Amino acid sequence: MADRGTVAITIDDAPMPDTTPAMLDLLDHFGAKATFFMSGCRAADAPDLIAETVRRGHAVYAHGWDHVRLDREPTSRLLDDMERCEALLSVHRPTPQPYLVRLPYNGGRRSARIHRALARWRPGCALVHWGPSTEDHMTATRCTSADDVEAECRKDVERLLADPRLAGGILLMHDQPINERPGSQFKPAVTVTMLRLLLEGLAQRSLRSVTLPPPPPQAWWQRFILA
Ligand SMILES: [Zn+2]
Repeated sequence: MADRGTVAITIDDAPMPDTTPAMLDLLDHFGAKATFFMSGCRAADAPDLIAETVRRGHAVYAHGWDHVRLDREPTSRLLDDMERCEALLSVHRPTPQPYLVRLPYNGGRRSARIHRALARWRPGCALVHWGPSTEDHMTATRCTSADDVEAECRKDVERLLADPRLAGGILLMHDQPINERPGSQFKPAVTVTMLRLLLEGLAQRSLRSVTLPPPPPQAWWQRFILA
């Protein structure tokens, strides 16, 4: 991203009924827009939250239906999964063109097979990586009581805000990361607290949170590498 006055917050694993509404309110409060990579397996149980996220002006793309290493599955299984997830999302907004994808566990970034398959699925489709991360998949594991949440989130956000890739960058956080780790009872509080501290920090630095711009047109030489 060229504009160093902005950041693009990306939120994986959404939506969740006990956190997404509070996240949407926080984003509104700070006048921020975000890009959600939704998990079909969660979104299927909360279609109203897909609609509400779209209604509030955020970008919504597929993070796959099942939260598994789709990049290690046969191509047909990957594309069936992506299609199933996008079919659910497309009930609530037109399918974006070009399309952006983040696969579970950031899979497939270095795989020509995956890039090729996704480009066949949706022309111009691009995998989205990130710069600074909240590393919020670990935050709840460090909490032993609810009183720890604020301080542990603050550590993550302060590290992220000090990252030289912040301005103009793509940030990663989760709506209650899908993982099996200790401290899962603190995940809802971590998610909402993390986003609040992040938005406060960005506002203090006069950084505006925007949705991801469309990917640049594929460079002519890339077609030869990935085709
Ligand atoms: Zn994920």
